[in-house]
Amino acid sequence: MPKAIALYSGGLDSTLSVLIMKRLGVDVMPILFVTDFGCSVSRRSGGKPTFPATEPLGFSIEKHYIGEEFLKLVKNPKFGHGKNMNPCIDCKALMLKEARKLMEERCADFIITGEVLGQRPMSQRRDTFPKIEKEAGVVGLVVRPLCAKLLKPSLAEEKGLIDRDNLYAFSGRSRKPQIALASELGVTEYPQPAGGCLLTDPIYSYRLRELLARNPSPSMREIQFLRLGRHFRTSDGFSIIVGRDEQENAEIEKMIMPEDYALQLTVDYGSPFVVAEAGISEEGLNLAAGLCVRYSSARRERLVPVQIVQNETTEIVQASPAGEREIEQFMIQPPDVRD
Ligand code: SF4
Repeated sequence: MPKAIALYSGGLDSTLSVLIMKRLGVDVMPILFVTDFGCSVSRRSGGKPTFPATEPLGFSIEKHYIGEEFLKLVKNPKFGHGKNMNPCIDCKALMLKEARKLMEERCADFIITGEVLGQRPMSQRRDTFPKIEKEAGVVGLVVRPLCAKLLKPSLAEEKGLIDRDNLYAFSGRSRKPQIALASELGVTEYPQPAGGCLLTDPIYSYRLRELLARNPSPSMREIQFLRLGRHFRTSDGFSIIVGRDEQENAEIEKMIMPEDYALQLTVDYGSPFVVAEAGISEEGLNLAAGLCVRYSSARRERLVPVQIVQNETTEIVQASPAGEREIEQFMIQPPDVRD
């Protein structure tokens, strides 16, 4: 029985690829490479991969964390970024390199991916597939079941490990062929596309660029904060993050350190949870309090009590809502975009 390592992202395409191979009698080991940004982690998913359970489809997945290696690529990709901070070619090459290591360790014969020719402008092109394979040291070892018939045969096809006639010739951005195949293969639940990689999100990418420009070696906590809330930077470089809903408030609250400042309204208003970075000036803390009021249900009041907690010490200050000018001046986001 031929064995294959599958790059699994949680999306429909990689699910179909695994199922196609299993139907051909291949022993498939689906691997989800987890980063702090990637296709399987959405901005609203609490940083957790979100995808339907695979057990009902007859396979389970293994997760491998490659966040640190991935961050190096994001900072300095050999093949450049896409429209935002997405280093798609380098990203695919890194995953294939990692898959190759697993392939060798587990005596697998080849690697499969859910790529579709022409589906993504940067990494899923006829001319980039060979470039990525070369970079990853996997030339000829990758089978792309959904579009294999449009590509040069892989070594697995040449050796007769799998029958090319049973592979597909999907191309372009239409999902209709995949949806038809999903129903044929009994896949009823799958995530919608384009919710995926944080690095293709312009607001997230802008924040990441801003952070890396200030600090080329940010902590993982700083990176993880980027996907949450509205972000502000004081004139002297301290960060203020304002939760946008209950889920974000709870996540931000979990991530703060005792020396950070945690702000919330004291009275019975709907209040965001606001974190101001440890070391922030008094002026910065006043801005944080004003933002806390501005994004609360007390935004039309003149003066509202705000509770500030740091190192288990609580202080109450009176704050007025921050004005549009302050928001414009201190919010970290691309011009003309209001999150
Ligand atoms: S969109 Fe690009 S950078 Fe993001 S996970 Fe997919 S291939 Fe990687």
